Amino acid sequence: MKTKDVEALYQKFVLATYNRSPLCLVKGKGSKVWDLEGKEYLDFFPGWAVSGLGHCHPDVVNAIKNQARKLLHIPNNYYGLKQAQLAQKIAEKSFDGRVFFCNSGAEAMESAIKFVRKFGSASGRYEMITMDRSFHGRTLATLTATGQEKFHKGFEPLPEGFKQVPFNDFETLRQAIGPKTISIALELIQGEGGIRVADQDYVRKVRALCDERKMLLVFDEVQTGMGRTGKWFAYQHYGVEPDLMALAKSLGGGVPIGALVVNRKIKEEVLTPGTHASTYGGNPLVTAAGLAVFKAIQKEGLLRNAEEMGDYLRSKLLALQEKYSSLIQEVRGIGLMLGLELNQPGVEIVTAAREKGLLINCTQDRVLRIMPAMTVTKRQIDRGLRILDQVLGEVAR
Ligand SMILES: *Cc1c(COP(=O)(O)O)cnc(C)c1O
Repeated sequence: MKTKDVEALYQKFVLATYNRSPLCLVKGKGSKVWDLEGKEYLDFFPGWAVSGLGHCHPDVVNAIKNQARKLLHIPNNYYGLKQAQLAQKIAEKSFDGRVFFCNSGAEAMESAIKFVRKFGSASGRYEMITMDRSFHGRTLATLTATGQEKFHKGFEPLPEGFKQVPFNDFETLRQAIGPKTISIALELIQGEGGIRVADQDYVRKVRALCDERKMLLVFDEVQTGMGRTGKWFAYQHYGVEPDLMALAKSLGGGVPIGALVVNRKIKEEVLTPGTHASTYGGNPLVTAAGLAVFKAIQKEGLLRNAEEMGDYLRSKLLALQEKYSSLIQEVRGIGLMLGLELNQPGVEIVTAAREKGLLINCTQDRVLRIMPAMTVTKRQIDRGLRILDQVLGEVAR
């Protein structure tokens, strides 16, 4: 089979919900992937942040193999050893809290939405305020929470009780709060929204406002979490804690897992038995993988690597900005979650980079998103940036 044969099968049998590039990936190792024809690529956007440790990290692969030999799945009416240990690990590295496991980022945010609604039901409050250009998933509730019109169109009527305000604008947020508002949800770095970083001052004020009005603060760390920013979780750059945190993507190192972490400060038992569930949620296979992800990040010092390589990559991107000042407007982000805002659409650059063997992403039409694995090396960054330099050079000409 060739890539064009796979494409033909897709055209016939797979719903066309994605714009796919003509690339069929069949093998990966660290920051490298190979396509069906054997061509090698440097992957600077591994799995949309899922493969945070790079592709097929040996410890994650071994954990999956070992677990698969023992037990793949048990239902949640029994206890799972690895689920308990992973919950403990998440709480140890974030804040004192308890975890609900599900299978994706959208489900983690959906769980957060259900949690805050149930919490607010006693006082008749249900409204969640989210941010313009946010992204929280594609279920009906999470797409309504998502502050981008294009995801809403055609799916009306949308569930009630969501309101969007401009990101990083505290006054407007404060004024938007009404008697029905129970929570505020945000990403500390908007990923799909174009690598927009929340201001320090803003986040602290939002935390104080939630305390004052007895509202719950939800951080969606589905993309920012698990070390990508150089700390375990992006909120740790801000000196505040959320009431709820949603995780997914690189938590499983490549297998589907999501988690909602609830701060123990919330004393009420909100999601009592029978009020929320997930058949697969936190099963032995995926929680074994999650534990291996935590261990590998610690063992290999990957938080430090993410910080150091992030600084290095940023300095190289800033140099590119200087070189192509007519093309590149701004470089932003934290750690290995970086974006280049262009003065023109970026799709052509992404395509040209792919043809030269570098995988990157473009979001919000003009923002190139570069998020290498936390295991990335200086040499790989040099190689990737040489390709990007070439491509930008051709576009500038
Ligand atoms: C990817 C993403 C989601 C949705 O996760 P899925 O696993 O695709 O459902 C939610 N929030 C943020 C911030 C994301 O980046």
